[in-house]
Amino acid sequence: MEEPHIGASFAGRCDACGATGVSIMKVSLGRDFFGRAYDRLSPNADLSPKWYCDRCSVEKNLQRDFRDIKGEFAKLGKGETSALDQADQLQRASLRLKEIAALIAVPALTQALLKADEVSALARSLETRRAAPTT
Ligand SMILES: [Zn+2]
Repeated sequence: MEEPHIGASFAGRCDACGATGVSIMKVSLGRDFFGRAYDRLSPNADLSPKWYCDRCSVEKNLQRDFRDIKGEFAKLGKGETSALDQADQLQRASLRLKEIAALIAVPALTQALLKADEVSALARSLETRRAAPTT
């Protein structure tokens, strides 16, 4: 059995929705929402690459941003240093969450990776945080 070429598109199974017989691609995550390098999934360090069909690769990018924002917001809640300490980043993240919520509301997306209620819940939390006076 021939190994697939890393980075190339081949016919296999989507790691998100499980679709087979479709063109799938390895998702390169590059930089995260806050502009930091995404070491974990850089080609050399990526020990278990994931492959996604067209629709899921779109959703994967949305999920990446959602997880970045969720992680930073959790740090903020614990009083740790967070990328969301800055008001402009908080606003940017809040807008991005609304965008993600709107994008996954489209029925064409499989929503194998993201849950709409989780996205909207986090969007509301960020809005609340923005409205609250900083202490
Ligand atoms: Zn898929």
